[in-house]
Order: sequence, then C-alpha cells, then structure tokens
Amino acid sequence: MKSKIKKIIPFKIGKKIRGIWQRTQAVYYYGNKYECPFCGNTFRKMLPGGYDLPVIKEKQIIGAGRRANCICPRCYSTDRDRLIYLYLKNSSSIFTNQLDVIHIAPSGSLVALFSSLKNINYQSGVKYHEGFYYSKDITLIDITKLSFKDQSFDVIFCNHVLEHIHDDRKAMSELYRILRPGGWAILQVPISNILDKTYEDPNITGSKEREVYFGQFDHVRIYGKDYTNRLEESGFKIQEVKPAIEWKENNIDKYAINKEEVLFIASKD
Ligand SMILES: [Zn+2]
Repeated sequence: MKSKIKKIIPFKIGKKIRGIWQRTQAVYYYGNKYECPFCGNTFRKMLPGGYDLPVIKEKQIIGAGRRANCICPRCYSTDRDRLIYLYLKNSSSIFTNQLDVIHIAPSGSLVALFSSLKNINYQSGVKYHEGFYYSKDITLIDITKLSFKDQSFDVIFCNHVLEHIHDDRKAMSELYRILRPGGWAILQVPISNILDKTYEDPNITGSKEREVYFGQFDHVRIYGKDYTNRLEESGFKIQEVKPAIEWKENNIDKYAINKEEVLFIASKD
C-alpha cells in the first residue's frame, strides 16, 4: 500500500510533505539531552525504532529489536547511522580527501551527508529486492556479481546487507575485489552476542520461518562471533572498533548510539 502511494505522489511533492511533517514533529521533541550529529538539533528524547521478535532477545542480536531513542525526530538518522558518522568524523579522511566511494543499500542520512561532500566521488546502489519501492535515481545491483572493475573504490559502505545474501562469501570477495589497496570498508551486520558460530540454514526459506529463526522475514542467517573470520577469508584485514570501551572520554551518550554495537572496519593492504 505504502509503495502504491509513493508511486502516485511525485517524488518532489512527497519530499516537501515529509519535510513539513518532520519539522512539525521535531518541535515536540526539542530539548537538551540528546544531539543528532547529522542535523545538529538537540532533543529531550528521540523516536523509538525497530521491532521485537523472540529470537532477537534469545540470541542477543546487537542493534536489533525495539529501541528507545533510535531515530532523530528531525532528520530521521538512526542510532546505526550516528555511530558511523561519529567514527567517520573522528577517524577517517572522508571529509577531506579525494576518494571514490560506493554505498550499497544506502540509508537516508548517510546519503545526504555523502552527497553533500564535494571532495568525494560518490555512487550509491541497492541490492534489488522484489516488492520494495525504489526511486528512479537509485541503481540496483547484484552484490555477488558487481559490474565494477577491480580496485575501483577507496571506500565502501555496505551496512546491513550481507545478512540478506545467500552466498555472502561471494559478496565479500566481490567487495574485496573492487576495493583499492589502502582502501577501507564499513560492513555492519546484525550480530549475536552469544553465538560463536554463524547460524544459517538454506532450507529455511519462508518469510514467517525466517522471522522465527533469523529475526527478520528476509534475513538468511544470524552472524556469530566468527563474522570477522569470514571477512578475513575474503582477504580483508578487520579492525573491530568498540565505542563503549574506546570512546569513553567523548561524552557519546548524548548522541544516542548503541554502545554495544561493534564497528567492523575492513581494509585491504
Ligand atoms: Zn538529525
């Protein structure tokens, strides 16, 4: 239904309506407790986000499930986006260097940020998913068979994608192939805090079953602590950044990020 409405309302008008609604809604939330690094506004609380399923709790999947203070009432950045923003601001050269950047399955606030950076050559694309609505300016791609030449990009963002891909090892090696030596990628996935080994079963194919076993209707696995090993098998060097431990001094609570979420920074020598 939502998709049908989106198709009927021209993109520009829809964007205006959304803008007016966001501005109106944000007024109710303004305050001093939280700050969104994307739009710079401050709030007494943020919007909740995500939804709960028993498996999410049972397997302690980090960053999934219903979360308070998840979405910025003004620009709709999520806790995941804000974590990446803070990393980029503190530890990357993306705001200053000339870089070729690809963003797979782009999310709103990061797209707006990257599109505004004049120093980067930015491309975005999404993995095709039947039944979803895509605006015309988005490129659909098959992440297991990328059309880009070897070593085309300095930076790759591919967040919350690999858990949807059957042959994720193929996807990882494709990402590695298109990355330049010296380049880096952020490859976030939902990950269980208690599973040592990734749980997957190609016989679980129905939407309802996948919700029960994997925590979302279109996920094909739950990654465990071996996620890093799987990336390393493709050639990546992995640095795990743990904000709760490493960013203690920076008063990060005000940005309403999930401090349990580990950032997976993959690089290529
Ligand atoms: Zn915001």
